[in-house]
Amino acid sequence: MDHTRRVYRLSPSQLSAETIAVTFAKTSRSPEPFDAIAAELDAEKSARFSEKWIVGYGHSSVAEHAVLHLALENVSRMSIETIEANRLASYTEKSSRYQLWDPKAYVTPPELEGSPFHERYIQVMNYLFAVYAESLDWLIPWGEANTPRQLGEGDKAWANRARLKSVDVARFLLPAAATANVGITINARALEYAIRKMLSSPLAEVRAIGQEVKRVANEELPTLVKYADPIESLAGVRDYCRRLTAQVDTIPSDRWCVLRHYDPNAEDKILAAILFRFGDDSVAVCLDQVLNMPAEDRQKWLDRLFDQLDEHDVPLRELEYSNYVFELVMDQGAYFEFKRHRMMTQTAQTLTADLGYAIPRAITEAGFEPHYRKAMDLAGRLFRDMVAWNPDVAAYVVPNAFNRRVLCSLNLREMFHFIRLRCAENAHFSIRRVGRGMFEALESVHPSFAGKIKLKLDESSDTLAEKYFTALEESIQ
Ligand SMILES: Cc1cc2nc3c(=O)[nH]c(=O)nc-3n(C[C@H](O)[C@H](O)[C@H](O)COP(=O)(O)OP(=O)(O)OC[C@H]3O[C@@H](n4cnc5c(N)ncnc54)[C@H](O)[C@@H]3O)c2cc1C
Repeated sequence: MDHTRRVYRLSPSQLSAETIAVTFAKTSRSPEPFDAIAAELDAEKSARFSEKWIVGYGHSSVAEHAVLHLALENVSRMSIETIEANRLASYTEKSSRYQLWDPKAYVTPPELEGSPFHERYIQVMNYLFAVYAESLDWLIPWGEANTPRQLGEGDKAWANRARLKSVDVARFLLPAAATANVGITINARALEYAIRKMLSSPLAEVRAIGQEVKRVANEELPTLVKYADPIESLAGVRDYCRRLTAQVDTIPSDRWCVLRHYDPNAEDKILAAILFRFGDDSVAVCLDQVLNMPAEDRQKWLDRLFDQLDEHDVPLRELEYSNYVFELVMDQGAYFEFKRHRMMTQTAQTLTADLGYAIPRAITEAGFEPHYRKAMDLAGRLFRDMVAWNPDVAAYVVPNAFNRRVLCSLNLREMFHFIRLRCAENAHFSIRRVGRGMFEALESVHPSFAGKIKLKLDESSDTLAEKYFTALEESIQ
């Protein structure tokens, strides 16, 4: 037996994803080197092994070694919400900040075929996309007039910055039916569940995408996603809960960012956990030490923990012992970015036109507000007419300007990451406001740790609202 250390790759260009997973699975019982195990395998042997051990005996974690890269094109942004609803996967999609949508870049949901709304849906979509294109004719001159040239900046770089500012505003007009492309990297275990969720969707488009994903995944993973079937209970639970919620009147929320839960003693508990990690006492003794520490020593220690971290460093894992639950209302454009944060538990309500829409100040200043309002009213009224017929399909018509209600739970480590990333100068102003709102709530309950995020205190959620919006919750007429 060779005892020399070896580090090498099993290349996906030579071995299928399923064979790689089986190779790794076999190391559990076989003393052979990985490349020798792989050399013994072919597609049929891998499938037989997977069927018996991974599928049959439930050793499902092995399927995590089979990784696929899936390319999905021209799927609606509505469907992307389900496609991306998996924590253990990676995504990159067409950006509404850096690209433009052409007039036909929208999906018509199959459910509309033969319904009373089909024709009106097409008319409203065509109208929204025409107004989106027209808005840029108004917003680009506004962007140029409101983008001071930086020292030494060339014409192209300046025009690009001005254009980006305008596109950031025009995106409020795009409906959830707008198409996008998304690249996904996902392992077979997560993929199986992702397919099951897609196949259980109330939307025909998402179920069809689920079938196609299953078909192409099967080409590389003949065994591992073979049994990905709809989650039978989900539709029943959805209908039952909708009937329950319909029994009470909807009370509009008067605050858009509410910290619903936090632990008042979390700062002490995190510090105790850090002492626990590096010491040899019980957590009770560590907590006692923290509680009896002079304020000056505690501050010195906190500075030591954070002040040497640079922007790429991640704070200690013990920050995860503090959890926060937020109830938020944000525009759909911001939600589309918010949903990408996988280290949170998020629950979004179905997209609706009932929580009002935002009017970016740029729209007003560019003189485009009457056209913008007309587009929102038209889309909002179509939504209201469709919602009793099918609330899920009705959501396709709702533009990014409309508000969405979201519940989320996250730990302090993810708060650090989210706030730093989304309050940065280059973040969109909508999500920047969300980040600032969450930061302000954190600062009010855990000031010592919030201070260590080291945000520039040059703006607040209120100043962002004032600077970038004419209205935040406008009702449709
Ligand atoms: C300036 C900017 C431009 C962007 N442009 C685009 C764009 O054009 N298209 C687009 O699709 N998205 C874009 N995004 C979104 C971005 O790609 C992320 O999906 C999003 O910001 C979520 O952040 P995250 O992945 O860092 O954090 P989270 O998902 O919140 O995860 C928190 C942390 O956990 C770790 N983590 C989570 N999952 C994994 C994993 N699977 N593997 C390894 N580590 C993991 C990482 O350390 C991560 O920072 C942009 C973001 C920014 C800030």
